[in-house]
Amino acid sequence: MCRHLCYLGPPAPLAAWLFDPPYSLSRQSWAPRDMRGGGTINADGFGVGWFPEPAGAPVRYRRATPLWSDTTLPELARATRSGAVLAAVRSATTTMPVVETAAAPFADDGWLFSHNGVVRGWPDSVLALAAELPTRDLVTLPAPTDSALLWALVRHRLRSGAPPAAAAADTVRAVLRAAPGSRLNLLLTDGRTAVATVADHALSVRADGRSVLIASEPLDDDPAWKPVPDNHLLIATTDGLRVEPMGAHA
Ligand code: GLN
Repeated sequence: MCRHLCYLGPPAPLAAWLFDPPYSLSRQSWAPRDMRGGGTINADGFGVGWFPEPAGAPVRYRRATPLWSDTTLPELARATRSGAVLAAVRSATTTMPVVETAAAPFADDGWLFSHNGVVRGWPDSVLALAAELPTRDLVTLPAPTDSALLWALVRHRLRSGAPPAAAAADTVRAVLRAAPGSRLNLLLTDGRTAVATVADHALSVRADGRSVLIASEPLDDDPAWKPVPDNHLLIATTDGLRVEPMGAHA
């Protein structure tokens, strides 16, 4: 069911999350510890997005192949440093295509976005919601997947002026109304703030006052990792984080 992570803090090589920890994202691509909801490995592509130092729009490296089989990424990940990173490995939901454009992170307007989960009854359950989007957003969806539509829904709310936490929470609520039982762990960052939703899937966070690391599952056995409760929303910056019930962002 995919695994994703987001880091905000002092710059470090991308390998610090992708390869170096005992339960790095690479390890999670072939031996995840928590795959509730189906799937055994995350072999249907991956992506890493990072904000370059000292400034600039996010850069992505994505592939439709397993992270562990990529021979270019280890070198790239040791040479590339960033203080704001969002990365994901994908286990495609049945019927959804295994293509690079379906691999998170999705990126627009200086945001990086990922979805861990599934929209139940896809696509029929959410056709009415999709119809609320500008036609241009629909015809330019990067892939015919639930995750790509979720990003279009969140992005539309951001473009309409909603703060990121409200944009994410409102999207989760709307999709749950249309498609009950969906698993909707969303993760987005503009490089300064990260917002994550927890809707029927695992999420953990580790913060130390200088940095914050949010991940579907802990990258190591550090007791500082805390699980985020279901149906909650996490808003994080490098100097602090808030965990609130999803309903607080109505
Ligand atoms: N349903 C999404 C996709 O197929 C996300 C998959 C997941 O979380 N396993 O792209």
